[in-house]
Amino acid sequence: MNRHKTLFFNELSEVSYCGHKMLTGKIGEFERPFDIIAVDGAHNYSNCENCRNTRKDIIARLKKATEIFPFCCESHRKLLDFSLYRNEDYIGLEDKIADKIMYSYHHVINFIDRDDWLNEITDYLKYVIDSFGSFPPEYGCAFMINYYPDILSDLLKDNSPSSNKISNDEFQKRINKIQNFIDLRFKDTKPQDDDFGERDLNLLLSTYDKWYRTFPFDLEYFKPLKEHFRNTIPILENKLRINKYNGVATTRLHTKENLTKTLIQITKQIITEVNAKKLFDKGLLNDSEKIKMDLILNNRELELSEISSIDYSDRKGYIKVLKQWFKSEKKFIKDITPYIQDKPNTKSSGSSTKKDFEDNFELYKLFKNKEDYESVIDILIKANFISPKGKGFEWVFTETKEFKTKQMIIALFVVLETENYLIISPKSIYTFIEKNFGIRINKGTYSRSSNNFKEDYYNKNTKNYSYTSIFQSLLSDCK
Ligand SMILES: [Zn+2]
Ligand SMILES: [Zn+2]
Repeated sequence: MNRHKTLFFNELSEVSYCGHKMLTGKIGEFERPFDIIAVDGAHNYSNCENCRNTRKDIIARLKKATEIFPFCCESHRKLLDFSLYRNEDYIGLEDKIADKIMYSYHHVINFIDRDDWLNEITDYLKYVIDSFGSFPPEYGCAFMINYYPDILSDLLKDNSPSSNKISNDEFQKRINKIQNFIDLRFKDTKPQDDDFGERDLNLLLSTYDKWYRTFPFDLEYFKPLKEHFRNTIPILENKLRINKYNGVATTRLHTKENLTKTLIQITKQIITEVNAKKLFDKGLLNDSEKIKMDLILNNRELELSEISSIDYSDRKGYIKVLKQWFKSEKKFIKDITPYIQDKPNTKSSGSSTKKDFEDNFELYKLFKNKEDYESVIDILIKANFISPKGKGFEWVFTETKEFKTKQMIIALFVVLETENYLIISPKSIYTFIEKNFGIRINKGTYSRSSNNFKEDYYNKNTKNYSYTSIFQSLLSDCK
């Protein structure tokens, strides 16, 4: 499938969660309509005269509408001034659009009694909807897409149950669900059940963010967990599923039940990490303190098991559970904090790098402050990525099949930049790299690679992420 999309951004705004910043905005998209494939099935044009006639009717209906396009309405009329719009791309498409509607209808009734019916059907419908192309929002809906939901819904409504694999009731239930899927895409309507319940994204994100910000990750004992919980936002189910028709990878939001389980998992993980025995062994607790803290930990275990047994099948109940989890979590943190606050600071003073500080080819000038510079250098030396050489450093990392030296050093600077260590304009960093690490990178390579790294900064399944994540976790210890 050869598709070409052009993106338009407007009203960008920055939202932050868990220390990440994310740009969101209304994204406008322009894409020309494309042809689709029909999927073979029991019900088709060649064995159904009715469908052949319906096709003719649709074509006749579309004819009238396409003749006056783009003068049909105010928004579409604006297309005449839109640079990418070519009138000829939208002429003579009636037959193809009628087929798109009819193939969708056939796909629904041909696959409705399969085991994987929901994904199979919604994947195909998404693909067909994509095939109508798109205009940026101010230019109105995609060409003739407004006919799609209405005609398809009428066809599905008139359809009578025709499967010997599933009961009539089940058949009707599944048709209703597909109807709900169509309505959600084209009308302001509510999801019928959790399968399409994407509305909960904000609730999940904000609950998690609130928790993340309340949790005292800066205490020595929790520090090792901080980066993990920043990068693993448990709102998505882990598995990616590829839509075989339009090639789009999707991952689904956690169902309510799963998310709550995950949040409880997190607390349990923390309780295991911070336990009274560990602290006692390190001499940070006396006997009576240990007993008190054991009680707090056990009590929290008990509360969690209560939460996990609450019935949260409806949305209200679910919000209640999240609120309750968060509230008792806050109390737990408050109770436990006095016991772990006084751990001595083990941060190294970075004395080996200190003496060279003023001489180091002004690398420190990149950094916002001296402490950050020192601890970064310290960590890089300890992890064997660099060693001091003359007035600068030598990059000692050896190139492997997976990791290239240049990419590695660019990844390092992208992490430093993204994690807010640097003050200098990112554009000139490549000159510092050559000066301080003896690695020559031209401007083009630097900006191209660093852009790619930034794009995939939180994108676990990418090659780029495998580069930056090394330094993300390495440097998370020094902030
Ligand atoms: Zn038919
Ligand atoms: Zn119009």
